[in-house]
Amino acid sequence: MVTKNFRDNFAKIAPYVSGEQPKMDGLIKLNSNENPYPPSPKVKKAAATIESAKLSLYPSSDAEELIDKLADYHGLKTENVFVGNGSDEVLGLAFRAFFNSELPIAYPDITYSFYPVWCEFFKIPFVTFALDDSFRINADDYIAPNGGVVITNPNAPTSIGERTDFIRKILDNNRDVVVIVDEAYVDFGGSSSIELIQEYDNLLVVHTFSKSRSLAGIRVGACFGNSELIAVMNTVKNSFNSYPVDTIAQKLAIASLDDESYFSDIVHEIITTRENTVKALEQLGFHTLESSTNFIFTTHESIHAKEIFVHLREDKILVRYFNKPRIGNYLRITIGTAAQMDALIESLERLI
Ligand code: PMP
Repeated sequence: MVTKNFRDNFAKIAPYVSGEQPKMDGLIKLNSNENPYPPSPKVKKAAATIESAKLSLYPSSDAEELIDKLADYHGLKTENVFVGNGSDEVLGLAFRAFFNSELPIAYPDITYSFYPVWCEFFKIPFVTFALDDSFRINADDYIAPNGGVVITNPNAPTSIGERTDFIRKILDNNRDVVVIVDEAYVDFGGSSSIELIQEYDNLLVVHTFSKSRSLAGIRVGACFGNSELIAVMNTVKNSFNSYPVDTIAQKLAIASLDDESYFSDIVHEIITTRENTVKALEQLGFHTLESSTNFIFTTHESIHAKEIFVHLREDKILVRYFNKPRIGNYLRITIGTAAQMDALIESLERLI
């Protein structure tokens, strides 16, 4: 009979729960921070030129062309760039690669909820520090000795962005450990720390094609750091899966980087829609944290978030509700098209 050990291995892990992906017609989906616009027309064109015969071959394991393109885009050398199957994979590999200390790694109590899952999965000790009453990260919390630091900037689900000086302070106080800055949402108004990687050999900045580039479906993420950190990332990758980014994904990600004007247009459109939505919500009695992302984190002065969530769902509008301490009276709402946000406001007007 098979032993029970394999069950005990993972008995304690509560896996990450992503936003629902229901198959329902006419749904307005504002629950997974996806981009409401399609990817660049150049991506569509590139997709049409994919030769299926070439798919019999393995993709480039080093994804050279994509890495060259990303290095060029950010003004870096190729030795500073790594790509993977979505930034979730890049982050998971980075946790495995860099968090080996007996000391706990440190991150905020309210942040991306995949971090504790990787800690359990890889048996990494961790400690969390509470955000302050305005949901800001306190950089001084990260002065105490630790096994590494992870900061989502802008943070999720709070949407609040911190300036580069804030990240610099954390880096200065943690020269002997790796500091991961997860910039999944940085293109919507945040400050990127990529420029600091020349100065700090302990910094790893993680990006994704899923949000600002409308490519969640192809699963491409990247990280940027000192060449030694990137070499270790490659060792870890090649000890697990040598081909994380498939041929199609590499090609489409490159095409997306070739269309800067489309990229800045849709990002600008989402920021404008966000600002309009925040104003309309304010009229209805909502208080919204200042967002630097493609989503907002908002609470109503008298109606509980859970009730609003249920009402919106009945109207086929899906937003994210976290039944967790401190944030249980907030909703995380992805910024959709202007028409989708109008529908949201109309539905809320009916409730309020
Ligand atoms: N980091 C943060 C903060 C996120 O919210 C997400 C999206 N769930 C990711 C990373 C992962 O994104 P992806 O794997 O699609 O690149």
